[in-house]
Amino acid sequence: METILFLAQTEANGSLGKAALEALSAAKALASDLAGSILIAGLVGGDVQVGADQISSCGAARFVAVAGPDFVPSRYSTDLVAAAALCTAASATIIVAPATSRWNRVLAGVSQRLDGRIDAHVTGTTVANGQPGITRWYYRQRMEAVVQRTRRPWFILLDPGCGEPWSGAVGTASVELVSAALTDAQRRTTVAGIQAPPADQQTIRPDAKLLFVAGAGWTKAQPDGKAHPEEAETLILGFLAATKASLGSSKSLVDLSGEGHAVLKFMTHLNQVGQTGSTPRHPKGLSTCCHGEEPHTVGWRFITERRAINLNPNCSWAQGKADVLYVADAFEVMRKINALLTARA
Ligand SMILES: Cc1cc2nc3c(=O)[nH]c(=O)nc-3n(C[C@H](O)[C@H](O)[C@H](O)COP(=O)(O)OP(=O)(O)OC[C@H]3O[C@@H](n4cnc5c(N)ncnc54)[C@H](O)[C@@H]3O)c2cc1C
Repeated sequence: METILFLAQTEANGSLGKAALEALSAAKALASDLAGSILIAGLVGGDVQVGADQISSCGAARFVAVAGPDFVPSRYSTDLVAAAALCTAASATIIVAPATSRWNRVLAGVSQRLDGRIDAHVTGTTVANGQPGITRWYYRQRMEAVVQRTRRPWFILLDPGCGEPWSGAVGTASVELVSAALTDAQRRTTVAGIQAPPADQQTIRPDAKLLFVAGAGWTKAQPDGKAHPEEAETLILGFLAATKASLGSSKSLVDLSGEGHAVLKFMTHLNQVGQTGSTPRHPKGLSTCCHGEEPHTVGWRFITERRAINLNPNCSWAQGKADVLYVADAFEVMRKINALLTARA
């Protein structure tokens, strides 16, 4: 029998975001699959009523919250106090939180303070023989493990995009406010503002249906003997603007940027997909001008449908790594696709 605390912070508009709702689904599944367990919702934020009402029909036995202006910003010292207070108030044995940057930063500290254990980068929860477990991947997403722990409290940080977000009727939740006393020192850090690129310049979009990968071929000499990085940039940005796809890259292309060559200016190492890059999750992926070598394609593990455009019929994508390989000039194909997208718009 476990007391499962779903822990989340409210967004700027007071609601709960998608990652939080995915964590709620996982927490709820654990509570219903473990006989005699209860689910408690714990929220942190300025005013948490909107968020609590949003999940009022989730089946939580209690809604506990630490609320007030001190708990609006993402700040280690105050988030630590708030999360610890909620875990204690709920007598939680298992805590499920979304792996947002905010909780990723603070929950290991809460676990240490409460003498618990924590697992990060969790992709799902399971129940086997009446025991709770988690799934997560090791060795650059090559091996999946199921982990069980006897130590409590057990903190679980669930990676976004791994499960379905909870949805249900909005109602009115009765929220128990939990006090979390702060010292002046804990309020010392202030958040002066948030610097973020405008939505259109933000090329990494984890929720996009399509991952568009650009490889080093975009910068290489083409059949006319010349490189065309300016046209490559226009074609790629035009496609991203029309489709809102997420932009990935091969290592070769982002390394070229680092070495100061004439390359795509909007590309950074954050876009790199692969063994030493990221392993994004999208229903579809389209690779262009990228050879598809193993260190790159290992990052495509969670891309359900894979297509590639390459001039070379013997490129690595052809060795069973893509569902469809278009043997074609990506410049020509993308010119045509962008024209079709413009015509449709
Ligand atoms: C330890 C280690 C870790 C690594 N980690 C990563 C990683 O995380 N991610 C990663 O990506 N790589 C990684 N690599 C590098 C990887 O092995 C490859 O070198 C890299 O992915 C190659 O990038 P690329 O396919 O874009 O470039 P290239 O190998 O240069 O391929 C360019 C491709 O573009 C095609 N092309 C050119 N013009 C056109 C056109 N007009 N139309 C269509 N196709 C065209 C060519 O046919 C060619 O196949 C790693 C390597 C090592 C050793």
